[in-house]
Parts: sequence; C-alpha cells; structure tokens
Amino acid sequence: MKILVVNCGSSSLKYQLIDMTTKESVGIGLVERIGLEGAVLTHKSASGEKEVITTEIPDHTVAIGLVLKVLVSPVYGSVKELTEISAVGHRVVHGGENFAQSAIINDEVMKAIQDCIELAPLHNPPNIAGIEACQKLMPGVPQVAVFDTAFHQTMPDYAYLYGLSYDLYEKYKIRRYGFHGTSHKYVSQRAAAMLGKPAEELKIITCHLGNGSSITAINGGKSVETSMGFTPLQGLLMGTRSGDLDPAIVTYIMRKENLNPDQIDNFLNKKCGVLGVSGVSSDFRDIGNAADEGNYRAKLALEIFAYQAKKYIGSYAAALNGVDAVIFTAGIGENSSSIRAAICENMSYLGINIDQEKNKVRGVETDVSEANASCRVLVIPTNEELTIAIDTFELTR
Ligand code: ADP
Repeated sequence: MKILVVNCGSSSLKYQLIDMTTKESVGIGLVERIGLEGAVLTHKSASGEKEVITTEIPDHTVAIGLVLKVLVSPVYGSVKELTEISAVGHRVVHGGENFAQSAIINDEVMKAIQDCIELAPLHNPPNIAGIEACQKLMPGVPQVAVFDTAFHQTMPDYAYLYGLSYDLYEKYKIRRYGFHGTSHKYVSQRAAAMLGKPAEELKIITCHLGNGSSITAINGGKSVETSMGFTPLQGLLMGTRSGDLDPAIVTYIMRKENLNPDQIDNFLNKKCGVLGVSGVSSDFRDIGNAADEGNYRAKLALEIFAYQAKKYIGSYAAALNGVDAVIFTAGIGENSSSIRAAICENMSYLGINIDQEKNKVRGVETDVSEANASCRVLVIPTNEELTIAIDTFELTR
C-alpha cells in the first residue's frame, strides 16, 4: 500500500510517496514557482536519482498532474500505475476547533476547512487547492486531511484562552491554537520509544526549531501548552517572525511608521525575528557565520533565540510540574549543536546536563545528555510526512 503525502503552499508543493510496508519514501519531490515564470519540479526517485522538469505550471491542478506523471514514469517513477496509490494525505494548516484528529475528506470536512480560511488566510487556500486538484485527477481515491492544529486541541481552556474579553472568543474563536502539531506528536512518540516508556507516563517538552519555531509541553502524550498561538506569529522569535511582543507595540509602530493592518502584518511576519535583529539573514547558518566573524547583532540574535527558548522550557517545566525529556527537532534543533548547548546551559536545576561530545551529532536520533542526567535531552529528526501517511493509512485501510 502506497500513500501520497501532499503539502501545498501558495506557490509550492512538496510531495512524498510512502510505502506503508516499509514506512520508507519511494519518491520525493518539490514543485516550485507555481503560477509564476520559471516553474520547476524537482523529483528524487527511490534510488536517489534526481530529475528536474522545467515547464509551465499555472496552478495546483497542473502541478499535481505533473507529479502523478513523474510518479509513473518508467525511468524515474515509483509505481507502474497510479492505482497503486491507495490514498492521499494532505497537510492542512488550520482545522480550528473542529478537528482534534485527522479526517477523511468529504463535503462536510471540506466546508470546515474552508471555514478556517479566515484563521489562516495564507495557508488554508493553497491546502484546499491541493485537495481539489487531487480529487479531480484521482477520482475515487480517498483523501485525508491532517491538521497542524489537531494535536494541540487537548490544551485546557486556561491554557488556550487569552486575557481578552471572553465574547471575542465566542464571536471570533480568538484563542491559542498552536501549530507544528504533526511534528510535536511524531517526535514525542519517538522519544517515548527511545526511552522505552509509554508516552502516558512521560512529561516531555518538544522544541521544533526551524524557519518557524514552536515549543510544546506534552503531558502523558497530550499537548497541554504550546508557544504558537492564534497564528504562527506568537512564541519564540523566528527566522523572520517577531514572536512574542507587548501588544501595544503593534499599534505604536502602525502610528509611527504609518502602516495599515496588512503592512504591519507583513512587517511582523517577514521583516522581524532573527533577520530583523541581526540584519544579516533569516538563515541560522548565515547568522552563525556572521557571529563567528564578530558581528555583534548576529551574536545578539542567536543569544535572544536561545534565551527565549530557555525561558519557554523553564515555564513549561513549571506547567508540567517537572520534565522527563527535552526534544530538539527541525532544521536548527536537529543540526545546530551550538544552539542546543546555548539553550541547555545552566539548566541543571531541571536535571538537564548535555554531554558536549554526544551533542556534536547532526540529524540522527541521539540521547545527548550526560549518563546520569535526570532529564534526557534527545535529538530526534522530525518526519511530518510519515506521520501524515500513517494517519492516512489508519483512516483509509
Ligand atoms: P522549515 O520551517 O522551513 O521546515 P527547517 O526545519 O528546514 O525549516 O529549518 C530551517 C532552518 O534550519 C534554517 O534557519 C537553517 O539555517 C537551519 N539550519 C539547518 N542546518 C543548520 C545547521 N547546521 N546549523 C544551524 N542551523 C541550521
């Protein structure tokens, strides 16, 4: 049984075909610049051969059509016939309060995803475009929606509500939703397996540190608190997003810089974070290099990032009444030993003590804590695609 996993952005589409017998990817690729000049599909076959196709790709339906053509290609394809693909799993960013789990897509589910467009105007529309394209080109093949927000639906009301007038929650559903749920769920389950304990017995803090970053407190396998909020703008400062602010700063900047709501939204999402602080880049590798060369603002950006992550871990240990394991995942969490070390420095009061030798690891599941540390620090590469495929498989088999 093979499952196609699709993750649609406004002008991009990532896909992976996963064989559920082996849980391995048998074809992976990326379509970029959909609807723009210079559209391109890059495909990697199971044997690692790379194929680059440059052609006109005006919309997501054409993009999916091309992906399906590539997947059955006799040269670099992954299946002989499309009928070998038994279901499609779609990453959907916002499921609002409607979905605490993944769901087989029918008219009702589609309507609920459409209703969430207001909450995720940049993300849900391309997700919907991907679903509609697959429905059109693969009629009869079950489609499943896997939501970034679903894992966090277990948060208690006192954690997800803001200190706003309660009627705003009733009228507009303004509350904390949280994102990266698929990743937090996957790494917390892997952590339980690595520690040889049932997830129900563990208090875990998962740090998904990538272009977008979020930290989650997981008690007994359930998300109880997470740093992203109503939108992915809240929490840690990120590549280009400001993260937490005094809300009064927003209106202050708008007045001072004469910005309208769309402009301030764009500013806080695209021009801030470590890019804004460092003035160098949103990419942590570039910032690390600049810091090594003595750039003060680059060094400061890294220090703010590590300091904020440390504060989240401390506050989540308080929320959990202790912590058994801290997990690092995603681009930065998996690869940057210096950022992991900076975050975990001076946290021995929580039983966190990193072994500097073990911490040199990159991108491999590893326990990097000292042998006798009471809180384990684990590096676990995330695999959102596999989680989406497993949910899709479970719901459709
Ligand atoms: P996305 O949110 O786009 O999926 P990723 O999880 O791929 O992001 O993370 C991208 C980030 O990871 C970038 O800022 C990149 O600089 C960072 N990164 C990747 N490798 C390293 C590394 N070796 N050291 C520091 N940062 C790294």
